[in-house]
Amino acid sequence: MAALDIAIAGAGVGGLAAALGLARLGHRVVLVEKFAEPRPLGSGLILQPTGLGVLQSLGLIDEIRAHGRRIHRLFGKSGGRVVLDVAYAALGDVEAVAVHRSALFGALFSAVEREAGVSLERGFEVAGLERYAGGRPALVAQDGKRIGPFDLVVDAAGARSPLSADFPARRRALGYGAIWANVPWPGAPFDQGSLEQRYARAHAMTGVLPIGRRFGEAEELAAFFWSIKPERFADWRARGLGRWRDDVARLWPEAGAVVDGVVDLDQMILAAYGHHTLARPYRERLAVIGDAAHATSPQLGQGANMALLDAEALTAAVAENPDPERAPEAYARARRAHVRLYQAMSAAFTPFYQSDSRVLPALRDWMFAPVSRAPGMDRMLAALVAGSVGRKALSPPAVRSQALR
Ligand SMILES: Cc1cc2nc3c(=O)[nH]c(=O)nc-3n(C[C@H](O)[C@H](O)[C@H](O)COP(=O)(O)OP(=O)(O)OC[C@H]3O[C@@H](n4cnc5c(N)ncnc54)[C@H](O)[C@@H]3O)c2cc1C
Repeated sequence: MAALDIAIAGAGVGGLAAALGLARLGHRVVLVEKFAEPRPLGSGLILQPTGLGVLQSLGLIDEIRAHGRRIHRLFGKSGGRVVLDVAYAALGDVEAVAVHRSALFGALFSAVEREAGVSLERGFEVAGLERYAGGRPALVAQDGKRIGPFDLVVDAAGARSPLSADFPARRRALGYGAIWANVPWPGAPFDQGSLEQRYARAHAMTGVLPIGRRFGEAEELAAFFWSIKPERFADWRARGLGRWRDDVARLWPEAGAVVDGVVDLDQMILAAYGHHTLARPYRERLAVIGDAAHATSPQLGQGANMALLDAEALTAAVAENPDPERAPEAYARARRAHVRLYQAMSAAFTPFYQSDSRVLPALRDWMFAPVSRAPGMDRMLAALVAGSVGRKALSPPAVRSQALR
């Protein structure tokens, strides 16, 4: 097999995992990142068993375990009623791990730096593609610089990628986003193995997620989040911390101790969400992975996991047939059913937890408890958040809790 020259736009979760996988097949990979110093943005996230399986295949599970916190339960209440209660134990010994983004990024990035087959092009903000003889693509930067041509380009540049901006898809901004902060772990009554949330209808939501430690640091942290409409962010800042703390305490009195860790408005970072799914996440010699191919709200907690699964599927497609004309389509085919199912479920579930609807959260509050007690429902809900619905198995080798201990 002749080694391919592959460019990957974006050193995020998907781009880093794809760079590792493809370089380990023996291909020459150039990872192109807009930041001069690649870095993770945002707070914490839950790595589901599916995403952990990919990290295990990449040999990074120990680092993730060492930094993150094992999560056994997702739990939420609305006005005293339990309206979210999912335990991974329903699936047997399968578990999830919540991490600070820097722990995930640090594990992936340091592995990429050690990988001889990957070179990093920093400070190169991709603006588009240029085609050379035989359709071979080169990357063009904002400032006119060029790199390439390559046999294959992977678009892993996230939800606002310019490389796939013209691909047919219905793109919509979601009404609600969230403000996030990392705070010191607050201790009791919070449980270091649970994501906990509180809701008032669907217009207010707050949550605490234990996320372990930043990459290479010792302090135990939690991610704290508060639902907000992005257009109200300026008003929220203008009202000041004191009044917001009162809002939080009204919704969840125990969270008062958590927001005491927020001492400056600038600690709360706004995340706006959008939703789109590319019908065909590929073109001639171009494969689109991760949020660039399918963005959604983090309600089901699947985005980083999906980016990891995409990277794994693309690596497998190239391993099976290293023809750059065919591998992108083979990758898309392998991922199609799972991506479509989860994108549809995320679009359907999000308004129950983040929207102006009165009907949907009322339905949620009324129905969740009886529905979740129906036979087999505990397994169904756990499989849904584990990311395994629509996949033949939790593969590659399922991450079992024994492996995580
Ligand atoms: C608040 C919030 C909470 C979330 N919680 C979860 C969760 O619990 N579980 C989960 O699985 N997912 C979660 N997600 C989603 C998850 O963060 C994303 O799905 C995931 O990061 C997507 O990975 P990616 O590699 O596709 O893109 P990204 O991680 O966005 O990486 C894109 C990379 O491309 C670079 N880039 C962008 N444009 C260019 C350009 N023009 N040229 C060069 N480089 C460029 C960026 O700098 C970045 O390094 C959450 C998201 C948000 C916002």
